[in-house]
Amino acid sequence: MFIDISNLKKSYTTGVVKTEVLKGIGMKLDKGEIGVILGPSGSGKSTLMNIIGGIDRGDSGRIIVDGVEINNLKDDKMTDYRRGDIGFVFQFYNLVPNLTVGENIEVVSNISKSPLNIDEVLAAVEMKDKKGRFPRELSGGEQQRVSIARAIVKNPKLLLCDEPTGALDFVTSRAILQLLQQVNKKYGTTILMITHNAAIAAMANRVFKVRSGEIVEAAVNQVIVPAERIEW
Ligand code: ADP
Ligand code: MG
Repeated sequence: MFIDISNLKKSYTTGVVKTEVLKGIGMKLDKGEIGVILGPSGSGKSTLMNIIGGIDRGDSGRIIVDGVEINNLKDDKMTDYRRGDIGFVFQFYNLVPNLTVGENIEVVSNISKSPLNIDEVLAAVEMKDKKGRFPRELSGGEQQRVSIARAIVKNPKLLLCDEPTGALDFVTSRAILQLLQQVNKKYGTTILMITHNAAIAAMANRVFKVRSGEIVEAAVNQVIVPAERIEW
């Protein structure tokens, strides 16, 4: 099992108020699979993803990613893990505004160790001709393509996508989802994606429904629908 999480708990304390955001999460994902985390706003999806990606830490529980218990990693090893093994894609792209498309990808650490390079990933997302453009000159969908190229250039073991289509219209969303499916096939990248659009779950091997910090339903090895045939 590539991702194996059990009894993951996380609370945030603001002043004297302690809120339990994750209440004993368990989930599994195999290598090369696409997993979708579905759930309403505030249910703990991003917190869960940030802990899996080494941006945040759980309070207790076991989080094994590719054989490593990441919750026990020392800070410097956690940084290595996050920089080396994980690619992130966010809802609002998070490109650096004063860098070109090519430069936005160039700043990624670990590129020199990767079998992939900037031109290859830009070609994979069909953005090679926009290499010298700035983010403001691109549409939302194009910016998201660049952010996907940036996330995959280091050939990450795991691609974490937090509502990657949340800011896009449905035609563009479908193209981005197709692209993620292509990346998954072409490079064998394991993908874990957050969404609150239930239709998107159709393209996943496994679906985890989250409500108030708990997994209330998990579908495993469902029949996968190609992104272009998802009914919205
Ligand atoms: P989702 O991604 O499902 O919308 P989040 O994981 O972002 O949910 O947030 C879950 C809950 O945790 C929310 O109530 C949010 O306000 C709270 N939360 C998230 N991050 C923090 C933080 N750094 N400090 C305090 N509360 C937080
Ligand atoms: Mg979120």
